Amino acid sequence: MANTSSTPERALFTADPQAGYRAHAADIRAAIDRALASGRYILGPEVEAFEREFAGYVGGGEAIGVANGTDAIELALRAVGVQPSDLVATVANTVSATAAAIVAAGARATFVEIDPVTMTMSPAALEETLQRAAGRVKAVVPVHLYGNPADMPAIMAAARRYGARVVEDCAQSHGAKIDGRMTGTWGEAAAFSFYPTKNLGALGDAGAVFTGDRSLAEQVRLLRQYGWRERYVSDLPGGNSRLDELQAAILRAKLPHLEAENAHRQALAARYGAMLAGGPVRLPESTRGAEPVWHQYAVRTPQRDVLRAYLETRGIHAGVLYPVPLHRQRAYADATVALAETERACAEVLCLPLHPGVRIEDVDRVAGAIRDWERG
Ligand SMILES: *Cc1c(COP(=O)(O)O)cnc(C)c1O
Repeated sequence: MANTSSTPERALFTADPQAGYRAHAADIRAAIDRALASGRYILGPEVEAFEREFAGYVGGGEAIGVANGTDAIELALRAVGVQPSDLVATVANTVSATAAAIVAAGARATFVEIDPVTMTMSPAALEETLQRAAGRVKAVVPVHLYGNPADMPAIMAAARRYGARVVEDCAQSHGAKIDGRMTGTWGEAAAFSFYPTKNLGALGDAGAVFTGDRSLAEQVRLLRQYGWRERYVSDLPGGNSRLDELQAAILRAKLPHLEAENAHRQALAARYGAMLAGGPVRLPESTRGAEPVWHQYAVRTPQRDVLRAYLETRGIHAGVLYPVPLHRQRAYADATVALAETERACAEVLCLPLHPGVRIEDVDRVAGAIRDWERG
């Protein structure tokens, strides 16, 4: 019965939110019981405690829990003063949520070319966009894609020169640093998502705005609940983007494990790098000075679809994040921009299995399969 050689190899995926539950099941269940017994279910003591603990983790500011990461971007943009008809500069190789939030804030997205090596916003291209738009770009939303920090020192310098505010999209970068400083602490504000597959994931929807500016924090607090400073009295036309107690309690159970899980992701990424060096795919390269947290491990090859299909036959389900750049999607189409590097990246990226449920042996198996594919 214990003949392991005939045991089918387990399927590997780009993400596995259930693994994050299983690994901390007892802590999560205790947190849920505590929240259920409390009698408070929305914006109560669990949310307040999580906001404090998460702000402490990021460092030097305040966190405001909201309903999801998309809302976090929208509310942060509104808080920094984005108005209808303003432009907001971001990248096109991101999830629809980044642009959806810009539109929800009443603004229009304008897309900036990426650096071909790191696949994050090119500071030089941002400078060009800011210059061309002559004061109409109110805010910039760099995305720390795959957990690799964008070049924040250069992006902040460009934004400052043109008076644009910066809201970091940290949905994939919980704990990532550049020049020793956490992502989320560079711009005026930052948006985090705790969607179940993120590096810090809830078991439902959740998000947070982080900011070191107390008046921005106050604005976001008003915007997340009808603009209420005082109950039932609206100072602003805010909406409803409240975080619930169950998700906050679950996040409090998982936050203490984030550093260890990021370290595991870093070990897996290092193993991929060692096993695939000199092989058929281009390996991810981080921004100078960056400590990425490997939300995804995105390799590149012009043969992406062929490699992906081959890996499927070996029980390895690699993902494509993201296949269609936003400026090529009907909702956000922009024919005025030429983004050759962005389009090439979207055509070539393949995200290999990397998450806390993946083991070093799994990486060896994936790398071995890629080597087999190379040999044909
Ligand atoms: C997940 C994600 C979001 C949106 O977060 P939700 O919680 O799903 O709304 C925004 N930007 C990026 C880069 C993401 O990965």
